[in-house]
Amino acid sequence: MKEYVLRIAQSGFAAGEVFDVDATNAGTAENSADIAGARAAEDSAEELRRFDEAVLALKQELSTAAQKADENNAAIFEAEQMLLEDNRFAGAVRMLISDSGQDAASAVRQIGQCLVKEFELSESSYIRGRSDDVKGITNRLLELLRGDKKRALTVPSIIVAEELSPLQLSGLGAALILGIITVKGTPSSHVSVIAGNLGIPYVYGSSEAIEAARACSRLVIDGEKLITNPDEETYRQALQRMEDSRKRAEDSGTDDLDRCTKVYANIAGPKDIEALLASGAEGVGLFRSEFLFLDRESAPSEEEQFEAYRSVVEAMGEKETVIRTMDLGSDKKPSWMSFPDEKNPALGLRGLRISLKEQELFKTQLRALLRAAVYGNLNVMVPMVTSVREIEAVKACMKECAEELTKEGVSFRIPPLGAMVETPAAALIAEHLAQKVDFFSIGTNDLTQYTLALDREAEGLEDYYDPCHEAVLNLIEMTAQAGAKNNIPTCVCGELAGNPAAIKSLIAAGVNKLSVSVPKVKATMRLAAEAEETLKKESARVTAAEGSLEKGTIHVATAEEAPENETLHVEKTMPERALRNKPAQESYDRTPSSSRAELASPVDGKLIPRDEIPDPAFAFGTMWQCLGIMPENGTIYAPCDGIVSGIAATKHAINFTSTDGREILVHVGIDTVSLNGRGFTVLVQEGASVSKGDIVMEVNLDVIRAAGLSPVVVVAE
Ligand code: PEP
Ligand code: MG
Repeated sequence: MKEYVLRIAQSGFAAGEVFDVDATNAGTAENSADIAGARAAEDSAEELRRFDEAVLALKQELSTAAQKADENNAAIFEAEQMLLEDNRFAGAVRMLISDSGQDAASAVRQIGQCLVKEFELSESSYIRGRSDDVKGITNRLLELLRGDKKRALTVPSIIVAEELSPLQLSGLGAALILGIITVKGTPSSHVSVIAGNLGIPYVYGSSEAIEAARACSRLVIDGEKLITNPDEETYRQALQRMEDSRKRAEDSGTDDLDRCTKVYANIAGPKDIEALLASGAEGVGLFRSEFLFLDRESAPSEEEQFEAYRSVVEAMGEKETVIRTMDLGSDKKPSWMSFPDEKNPALGLRGLRISLKEQELFKTQLRALLRAAVYGNLNVMVPMVTSVREIEAVKACMKECAEELTKEGVSFRIPPLGAMVETPAAALIAEHLAQKVDFFSIGTNDLTQYTLALDREAEGLEDYYDPCHEAVLNLIEMTAQAGAKNNIPTCVCGELAGNPAAIKSLIAAGVNKLSVSVPKVKATMRLAAEAEETLKKESARVTAAEGSLEKGTIHVATAEEAPENETLHVEKTMPERALRNKPAQESYDRTPSSSRAELASPVDGKLIPRDEIPDPAFAFGTMWQCLGIMPENGTIYAPCDGIVSGIAATKHAINFTSTDGREILVHVGIDTVSLNGRGFTVLVQEGASVSKGDIVMEVNLDVIRAAGLSPVVVVAE
């Protein structure tokens, strides 16, 4: 038994038998050169026929692989088919055979090697990443020309290879692959993307470990660790652990999980919806619409886009669907679009910058989205935001589209607009952005790259790419705080959302939603429930230590009768900042207890323990001191002397700035933003002066209860 530490492309746990991919056939293209290339090309016509036959067979394999795959993975095989048919590949091979008299295998090898070199030298990391596809196609064509039989897996196994192509992966039968180990690889390769979508752990990077793995019959992958020849006990325990987690994932009645954090799924298109619905995801948290724009000859029409968006929105019914407008540029450059020569494409024309530059293209997409919004719960968000000005420009474009559609008599709805927070700039101005948008979605993949000044696809620097870096977590917390303060939800839709080591920290930071790849949905639901449970306990511990809230019912004086000694203090219940395992820092405790002024209760009711407020941002978020009151009636009073500094567009919350400069939020009901103002009558205007105890709002609690929502009134500071 020996342990090796490798690089992680996809984190996970697996134990099983070894399947050596390279031992399957005569070998890779490189080492099979003599066998395949030895033919004398006496008959060019015959060589052309053999080549065309191999191309046809490969096309068939790719299309079978695409049909079996989900939308994310199918796109990879469809792109490989296009590559195979590309004149630079098949065309060039045919030319070599007919003009230079080469045999089919030599021609395939020569053109394959040239293209790989060309792709590897490309400035675009997307094109560089596609050199793996060229290698895969070349190798498979050579195998077909040699007449090698494909050997599929028959028992669940961990596959070991020098290098792996998406087609090899699919050909082996992905359902039986427990784990992957390769010498060469990157987390951003297509094989890694497919493995991630299928929930298969994948480690790479050590030829010594691979040699050892090849020489044994059983392996265990545990995160970055590879155990070769595990002893009986280690192997038995590993199999048990795998079985337990498989069972948990399968039978996890996620319905009964006591959990406030919503878990959504990321998709690339309509084909993923079936799997998403089966996963139990509570909505689509990220539809990467740019996949509709890539690997094709021209931009998709408004009609084509409308159909794609409508079918997703319709299939999701009442559940939320968040579609991100095209995030093109950087490593996602469609061939039909021209791009300037950029030294740093990730820092250049990408995401929203392209949309605002190519307004016609953007408006075509917005029109399709506005039309699709009629069919369900559609929300739109924009990528790579860095300023408020950009959001205003997006809104202006949306307005133009709405005016055009009105004139044309086409039905549409303006959907809620969200900002992706994936640049440090967006996180740092989250307070301002929050006033302009309806939700935040944090793209931690890019936020990490831009915060740590590290190309997310840089090879050999993976150790520096740390989405749990204190700087990244601080920006996430800053964003969630700004969102909560302005009554808009914050989702995390980057990889970090499904990272077991980060979920507790994200929830503690005030994140309300997590959006992960479909295979990770169930596990993320469970992890979120566990994290909330732990945070509740921690919060209760801190509360008890401070001798503040007791479980039970403390009667709160009404504001009307509130004499000075009966007023309500906003309690300090700061839980530890979970992931970082550090106690709450003083700088986060904005109101020193000595200077706490007294607040009047904004409603008649019973005080409930903070950790029982059915919203994690309030229950154990770190950004506020807050408490909840179960209301006895629907009259809401001003909790302090001061001015009304903000009223939520959906009227369920009012912000007050007290005369001593404190910001107090009175939030009526949980998730009541969804009522869109129904049941709420606000009796004051923004900017109005109020005195403690003035009636500021009347609420029909029955409307809240009838919608299945909690009427708990939260006072937060
Ligand atoms: C992100 O950056 O985290 C994100 C979700 O967007 P993408 O990975 O598509 O860039
Ligand atoms: Mg991104």
